[in-house]
Amino acid sequence: MQTAVIIVAAGRGTRAGGDGPPKQYWPLAGRPVLERTLGVFGAHPGIGQIVTVIHGQDRELYDQASAAFKERLGEPVIGGATRQDSVRAGLEAIGLAAPDAVLIHDAVRPFVTGEIIDRVVGALDSAEGALPAVSLADTLKRAEDGHVVETLKRDNLWRAQTPQGFRYDKICQAHDAARRKGKDDFTDDAQVAEWHGLDVVVVEGAASNIKLTTAEDFAIAERLLSSGGSAGGEWRIGQGSDTHRFEPGDHLMLCGVRIAHDQTLAGHSDADVGLHALTDALLGAIGDGDIGVHFPPSDPKWRGASSDVFLVDAAERIKSRGGRIANVDVTLICEAPKIGPHREAMRQRIAEILDLALDRVSVKATTTEGLGYTGRSEGIAAQASVSVWLP
Ligand code: MG
Repeated sequence: MQTAVIIVAAGRGTRAGGDGPPKQYWPLAGRPVLERTLGVFGAHPGIGQIVTVIHGQDRELYDQASAAFKERLGEPVIGGATRQDSVRAGLEAIGLAAPDAVLIHDAVRPFVTGEIIDRVVGALDSAEGALPAVSLADTLKRAEDGHVVETLKRDNLWRAQTPQGFRYDKICQAHDAARRKGKDDFTDDAQVAEWHGLDVVVVEGAASNIKLTTAEDFAIAERLLSSGGSAGGEWRIGQGSDTHRFEPGDHLMLCGVRIAHDQTLAGHSDADVGLHALTDALLGAIGDGDIGVHFPPSDPKWRGASSDVFLVDAAERIKSRGGRIANVDVTLICEAPKIGPHREAMRQRIAEILDLALDRVSVKATTTEGLGYTGRSEGIAAQASVSVWLP
């Protein structure tokens, strides 16, 4: 089934007090909420076209938040006065592409998961619409003037989330009918669909798929992210190793730092064994091949290339999936040169290339006590481990 998604990011909700950007552009653990949301859909193999609906005044904020997905996204669509108008603008923008199904998602739900998307899309095989929802745990009270007057039955009650999915032609018809009748007070698309008589089914959402509305929601989200917990993502580990042999020369490159030495390392690029191991570790964490796949040694373009190019590419691949690198740890194995005097410069260089805080970068060194090829000083080996958080 061909599935497009509309990300509704045209809302005006700002910080209490009214200053600052709208919520979808607030930073969450250092990255805009919208960037995280785009990362989830951009990485989902079942999603085709992604249409983002923004407010006319937010173009600059949008360009920053979507920079990592530039090639994946078309031009954003400018929304209307109400959420309903904005969704309709998104549906019209899809227009000729006419997918089988469309998902409509609030930009301020960055913790949506691939599993939720799969369940919504899967339900559209047999239903005209589907929405993820969670059952109510709390008892519901109705109060008047602060006094409880009734306890409501919570059987059959659900909290609706997004993405809400629909057969594309059906939801277009429903929105068109609502416009013709001047109905503009619907709070979500499932309500538009219900009103138009579409069959909308409920699928399992997730408690972590929260809508970030208040400052408290953001505080909860920050805690979820910093604990690496069940915030709709997962930790990945990657490891890499590499070896280059010595040949006559007067310097070598190790972890991005030029070191004077009575030999150099042989290799197609600058033979920076440390950055090569680290690049492979990052690619390993996201299951995206290895350095040789993306930069074939047979391609003369990479002759003598500075290896930070490879590392930047791997980091971009992680970023384009909405991921972030938590830490990297490189071990260099050699008898000489001595690494100690250069260790801090290496850490700083890697931190700079990957845009990481220094305490997330480790460079260590060891010898093999004279044993083996590194012990005989025939070359230098490197190992690297990384941890990566993917939404
Ligand atoms: Mg290599």
